Amino acid sequence: MKIQALNFLVFLFIASCTLHAQEINKSPNLIIILADDLGYADVGFNGCTDIPTPSIDKLAESGVRFTNGYVSYCVCGPSRAGLLTGRYQDRFGFSRNPLFAPNDPEMGLPLSEETLADALGKAGYKSLAIGKWHMGAHETLHPLKRGFDDFYGFLSGGHRYFPEELTLNDPFEAKSQYDGYKTRLLRNYERVDETEYLTDAFSREAVAYIEKNRNNPFFIYLAYNAPHAPLQATEKYLSRFDHIGEKKRKTYAAMVSAVDDGVGAILAKLDELNLSENTLVVFLSDNGGPENHNASDNGILRGQKGDLYEGGIRVPFVMKWPAQIPHGEVYNNPIISLDIFATIIAQAGQQIPLKNPIDGINLIPFINGEDQGKPHERLFWRKFDAREYAIRQGNEKLFMEDGKENMLFNLASDISEENNLQDEAKEKELTSVFREWYQDMTDPVFMGLRQDKEYSEQHPDRFKRKEE
Ligand code: CA
Repeated sequence: MKIQALNFLVFLFIASCTLHAQEINKSPNLIIILADDLGYADVGFNGCTDIPTPSIDKLAESGVRFTNGYVSYCVCGPSRAGLLTGRYQDRFGFSRNPLFAPNDPEMGLPLSEETLADALGKAGYKSLAIGKWHMGAHETLHPLKRGFDDFYGFLSGGHRYFPEELTLNDPFEAKSQYDGYKTRLLRNYERVDETEYLTDAFSREAVAYIEKNRNNPFFIYLAYNAPHAPLQATEKYLSRFDHIGEKKRKTYAAMVSAVDDGVGAILAKLDELNLSENTLVVFLSDNGGPENHNASDNGILRGQKGDLYEGGIRVPFVMKWPAQIPHGEVYNNPIISLDIFATIIAQAGQQIPLKNPIDGINLIPFINGEDQGKPHERLFWRKFDAREYAIRQGNEKLFMEDGKENMLFNLASDISEENNLQDEAKEKELTSVFREWYQDMTDPVFMGLRQDKEYSEQHPDRFKRKEE
């Protein structure tokens, strides 16, 4: 009897140790929700009043809101390449928006690069990419060849939203760049018949994946194409905005509202499955709003999508992870989308060997106050074709353009970048630091959207299916 009781105690002890070890080793899930061309001031937590975003705001309230959250480029493709690799995309020549070119293995994310999905796969994560890929349309650049276990979306740089407008069966039926917007959606390598409004379809897929992978660590890269043009919304969302008279802004608002519903559905599913505590959810936009084009609003920030002014690169940016990040925190030091990679890798529960050195920083010690310093001494941006450059160091930002006078701003006192400080010594210092960074960068390795015509002339078989 005594021996039995002892055995039972030993059993209990071992069982509790194992359980404890499992809890400690349980890697956090990661969900990156990327909006496309969303303005800085178009979310409630950044002061938006005409478009309610209750779910995105809830996400912000239950985690940390970054007031100085940046992306590494001012348009879609390069910004995403930075986000997915944790590296300045100029290091590997991804300095332009890739063209839709299904025959071109060079048009997209170079194979030298490791994606976040590649890295997390080494730690046993299951990864799903949803929505806009834009990292190459060639078969060798497909998400499933870049570390993802599953994919639901499209390969081009934008897409039409109504399923009845998706009429092309494969990329080789395209005749021009923007025909890429009309391809039927892909589930992995298969074309599917989607019946829902695209934003709703992408939210549905994210929720289903959470349900399916509730028992193993997962990474969902949910890259909505909303609210990128074309401006298309369903009555369900449009009817919420009778108070907006201007048609363009109204449709834009409806598109943002659909994204907000998606965020709500994801948060609700995490709650329902008791996964919220250990899931890191990040929400951001891939670049600033193109105000003239989609009626977005960057508020007091100067400039818009395509600019290295704040309106092009400072974005709505929040992160939630109840296990590690305090509720309702506001973090003001500059951070960048490259940090997402570094943050999750550092928390994945085991050492993950990385193929390339990364530029991002693990933000957790900074957010929870263990480290009172700044994650980045400096941040850099390069617009290769336009010969425009920017560097931020502390509160100072130098904007440079070949052949023009430099402009130096203090963002703490002049967030709208209106007053050029004309401090020669400071300009000299920052220019020199920038040049040093630039030396490690590579020239673009593919032609981009601006070279669409030239590219098509050089590649007359751009959309012709290659014979086996
Ligand atoms: Ca974009």
